Amino acid sequence: FAYLKQFFTIDGIKCGIIMNKKGLIIMKIYNTLTHKVEEFIPNEEGKVKMYTCGPTVYNYAHIGNLRTYIFEDILEKTLRYIGYEVQRCMNITDVGHLTSDSDSGDDKMIKSAKKENKSVLEIAKFYTEAFKKDTEDLNVKWPEIVSPATENIPMYIKMIERLLEKGLAYQSGGNIYFDTSKLEDYYQLTNHKIDEMVVGARVGVEEDKSKKNQADFVLWFTKSKFDSQELKWESPWGLGYPGWHIECSGISIKNLGEYLDIHCGGIDNIFPHHTNEIAQSEGYLGHKWCNYWVHGEYLNDQTGKMSKSKGEFLTLSVLKEKGYDPLAYRYLCLTSHYRKPLVFSYEILDNASLSYQKLKQRVQSLKTEENPNETIYQEYNQKFKEYLEDDLNTSNAITLIYDLLKSDIDNGTKYALIRSWDKVLSLNLCEEKEISESLKKYIEEKIEERKKAKEEKNYALADQIREELLKQNIILKDTREKTTYEIK
Ligand code: AMP
Ligand code: ZN
Repeated sequence: FAYLKQFFTIDGIKCGIIMNKKGLIIMKIYNTLTHKVEEFIPNEEGKVKMYTCGPTVYNYAHIGNLRTYIFEDILEKTLRYIGYEVQRCMNITDVGHLTSDSDSGDDKMIKSAKKENKSVLEIAKFYTEAFKKDTEDLNVKWPEIVSPATENIPMYIKMIERLLEKGLAYQSGGNIYFDTSKLEDYYQLTNHKIDEMVVGARVGVEEDKSKKNQADFVLWFTKSKFDSQELKWESPWGLGYPGWHIECSGISIKNLGEYLDIHCGGIDNIFPHHTNEIAQSEGYLGHKWCNYWVHGEYLNDQTGKMSKSKGEFLTLSVLKEKGYDPLAYRYLCLTSHYRKPLVFSYEILDNASLSYQKLKQRVQSLKTEENPNETIYQEYNQKFKEYLEDDLNTSNAITLIYDLLKSDIDNGTKYALIRSWDKVLSLNLCEEKEISESLKKYIEEKIEERKKAKEEKNYALADQIREELLKQNIILKDTREKTTYEIK
């Protein structure tokens, strides 16, 4: 690649940007594989192949999971905004993900199906739909290619057969394992001490006696221990089902080909999931597979990583029931950097919610038919791109909106810029809310309830109803005759 340097001036300061031959800005991103921030250069100029690990659909996604999908959405939209064509694929894990990421315990899907007295596929369908709804509420774009693990069995079998042929896998105790001792740099993705990473060495993980090496992992299960598995397929090694890790490798290679540019997930995916994906994909392909591994940090609660099995199970529906706009949660995620842990509390969500509502109101008040000033537009748009190309600095991008609003730039330019930036931020900053019939009915009922409370001199309840509505951007206005409302 030949890089062009383009220079321009912002507020009297000379700036430069690096571009490739096509004139696209070179993005910088933290690569877990090299443990540093690097210039992002895809295999094919102007085109990005991106794979993101999808949900295990045995339960609702919690807002921690959703933080990861928001970060991936911003990454995809940033790449598109700066001019790349992005092809993105995501799996849906509906088989093979055991309660421990290191192949022990029960299949999460079966456990959930038993609990809810439904079939595994019913459970998968239900929670896939619920997840899709969450992504819609959060303006997270659904990838063009979304593929359930159960629909790609022949691909996993083909891969495992080749790994066996190459001597990179072995059959033992009924299962097929990947032989990690055959690789020199199995731990390339992690910079932790090997002893700490070895699966069997971790506290509470039962050692599998069929493995040759502690770090080996299952590619295909047939062991009688997993007889309860509802979904099984014929394979050269008997009736069985795939391990979780091979699913992502298979789905990615099948849909995006042998060379991948970016692979994403939350940091808990680094080991063992992504470490194993690299081992089996590169073993199968015989060459390097993916150049950039990008991971999002956790959403934590007061005691540590938010998880489905611990504490209050915080879903987006819970937030919605409490009156929060899902986009206020998206705004909160964007105000922090994707590589920094974010500690969730209702207090910070309240603050984010308030700021978000005010911001939206300010942007809407700018609405005008005036044409933007082209020079100023380009300058500010350039700044916006630079913040995002700087390892996705979304909080700086948001601060830029406030700087722009404070400036004496004309409303036409301000509005046009924010409308354009919202293609990436997806906060509906320029969208006026339409009031549905059901919302109208709901507000009128609340106003009636409040009127009654006041008549009964229950002012605390009356105030509570007002506050509840306010959180949903509904402002009540009292006049002598009646109460009206306005939607922010
Ligand atoms: P799962 O459905 O468990 O396979 O997880 C889906 C995605 O959420 C994965 O990319 C995980 O890395 C990510 N994830 C899990 N817990 C958290 C958390 N507390 N904060 C952010 N991301 C998470
Ligand atoms: Zn995966």
